[in-house]
Amino acid sequence: MFDSYESFQGGVFHASVPEGRAGASIYLTHSEIVAKTQPEGEQTFSIRLSECQLDLGGASGRMLFCRTPDRSLTIFCEEKGFAQALHQDAMGTLSEQLSNLCMTQRRSENQFRFWVMASAVLLVVLCVGGYYGVLAASRAAVHALPISVDEKIGTIAMQSMDLEEPLDEEHPANQLVAGIVDRLKPHAAIREMDFNVVVVESDEVNAFALPGGEIVVYTGLIEQAESAEQIAGVIAHEMSHATLRHGLQSVSQSLGIIAAIQIMIGDVGGLLALGSELAQESILTGYSRGAETEADLEGARMLHAAHIDPKSMAEFFELLKEQQGDIPGVIAWISTHPQHAQRIENIINYEKTLPKVEYHLLDLDLSAAQQALK
Ligand SMILES: [Zn+2]
Repeated sequence: MFDSYESFQGGVFHASVPEGRAGASIYLTHSEIVAKTQPEGEQTFSIRLSECQLDLGGASGRMLFCRTPDRSLTIFCEEKGFAQALHQDAMGTLSEQLSNLCMTQRRSENQFRFWVMASAVLLVVLCVGGYYGVLAASRAAVHALPISVDEKIGTIAMQSMDLEEPLDEEHPANQLVAGIVDRLKPHAAIREMDFNVVVVESDEVNAFALPGGEIVVYTGLIEQAESAEQIAGVIAHEMSHATLRHGLQSVSQSLGIIAAIQIMIGDVGGLLALGSELAQESILTGYSRGAETEADLEGARMLHAAHIDPKSMAEFFELLKEQQGDIPGVIAWISTHPQHAQRIENIINYEKTLPKVEYHLLDLDLSAAQQALK
């Protein structure tokens, strides 16, 4: 008569079956849960619905255990329809137990979901926080690295730049630029930085500093400048990029967290390998706006300390702004240094905050240098 009932696959725990456990087909009658162990019909067990004690468990948490009050017999089943069938067929006998189990399970599922969500959120927070933490630490660590790291990156970047032959040391243009660097050097933020200048023949109005203090000035800049002080303004700005170590910082940031960690643990081999290309890129395309502002103000501080009017730096921006359309190549420096109107204002405002000193004109011969370039 049981055949007319739906059957479910499950099993039994009972002392009489081998190893205390056997697979079974489970049926429900109007008063009992019946389990026939396999092979078919070998042993039959039953629990009266009125006595059955339900429990949920198993690896999935969805295994339904039906036990006798003395727990000598357990019939278990994981099939979805089994609990439903129990609910219907037991005619309310087991409803309360079932709904209690249901609630407990939902609660634990919700708890599980909560912990999964909480863990995911925590992981994201840790990753993001860790990332920015490491980046911030690496910014600090950049300053702890020896200048030789900057110098190495600078040397490699310089070699990969494929510049024209620099002008002879004795060339008046070179003398002029070297004279400017000599005036500014004692006021640089890093005393031991070994500034070296080369003048390269090019119509471009451009100058840049490499990490470590190598400064490259194009003849176009010397030709277009109206005063030696204007050139000093540009050079002070470029020297500041070197002393503020913007090259190394931008390399470590572009390379991301791995480079940041390498910098922190002092392993700069990998950084050097990748760094030169990136250093070159940031030198040629310009640093971040924040870095540019920093270099402007630090440059203005240096000029002021050397008794050169920082307004000359602003003046040069102004000159480039006016001539932008007229001189081919003039945009080179200015295009890497955008927002010049704002920068002119910043420099002038900053100068007002510095103690009053008497500014001197440089006793350097710009016109001789310009003449020699013709
Ligand atoms: Zn700059």
